[in-house]
Amino acid sequence: MKPPKDPSSRAGRIRGKLAFGLGDRLRSAFSRGGADVDWDGLEETLIGADLGVAATQEVLDAVRASLGKAKEADPQEFLKSALLGALGQVDRSLALEPPGTAVGVPIVVVGVNGVGKTTSVGKLARLLVADGYGVVLAAADTFRAAAADQLETWGTRAGVTVVRSDRAGGDPGAVAFEAGERARESGADVVLVDTAGRLHNKKDLMDELGKILRVVSRGRAPAEVLLVLDATTGQNGLAQARVFSEVAGVTGVILAKLDGSARGGVVIAIERELGVPVKFVGLGERADDLAPFDPEMFVDGLLA
Ligand code: GDP
Repeated sequence: MKPPKDPSSRAGRIRGKLAFGLGDRLRSAFSRGGADVDWDGLEETLIGADLGVAATQEVLDAVRASLGKAKEADPQEFLKSALLGALGQVDRSLALEPPGTAVGVPIVVVGVNGVGKTTSVGKLARLLVADGYGVVLAAADTFRAAAADQLETWGTRAGVTVVRSDRAGGDPGAVAFEAGERARESGADVVLVDTAGRLHNKKDLMDELGKILRVVSRGRAPAEVLLVLDATTGQNGLAQARVFSEVAGVTGVILAKLDGSARGGVVIAIERELGVPVKFVGLGERADDLAPFDPEMFVDGLLA
């Protein structure tokens, strides 16, 4: 496999994958011209895109307010600004010092099975390596041997060390600890921890994630706790997301499978519901199909 690509060279490809096929419907709401907007059609399209009721209402109000102020301008531009406004201006970068500054800073990745967690961890490792960080991967999902195997494959692709348990059902905290030790020995900047997602209830989740976070934090507090969500499940994933967010102190979201979704507006619903920024989006199954979330590019994709 080729070395990880420079993130800036991905922009064009990412733009192509962020097209949700809503542009025609959104444009047709403005086809009567000027301030004569098909408000019902616009509302239906935004709700259909999974923005959620509250954000949809806010976007409609913002467009109405702009139309009231400046009738001659292009209403579609107002829609664009309203959508950007619904996302808000928040810091979406990872809370990391530049490469070479710190050693073994943990980033813990959580989420239920099947959402794309391990894949996202692998892709994130490649992004970090491309940015000059030394990375150790911790396969702290010790219940599924397949998960550790999968992570090892990703480790090879990113050219980084993977620490795993030597037995199924081993202690995830021990894996996280060992990964921290390996990072200290090798001077790696970041320990990226993949956690188990087969947790059925809040108590299990608390116990297990709490333990990993305690072990990890004994060295250093995690720079980030990233929650992976599956964009194709739309708002249904939000209830689960709330539980993780309460238990693990989530600092950011990786929204996987946004490529396969016609409901991209869920980005806006997630941010508002959880109050944490979407930091990365998954746009396919390939090694370089993870991108830092760019609101402008995303809104262009909604309108495309
Ligand atoms: P985990 O159980 O949460 O660790 O999920 P996996 O990482 O094993 O991913 C589950 C499936 O989703 C796999 O088939 C992945 O290839 C696929 N997947 C993960 N991320 C993306 C993405 O961004 N886009 C698409 N289309 N598929 C993805």
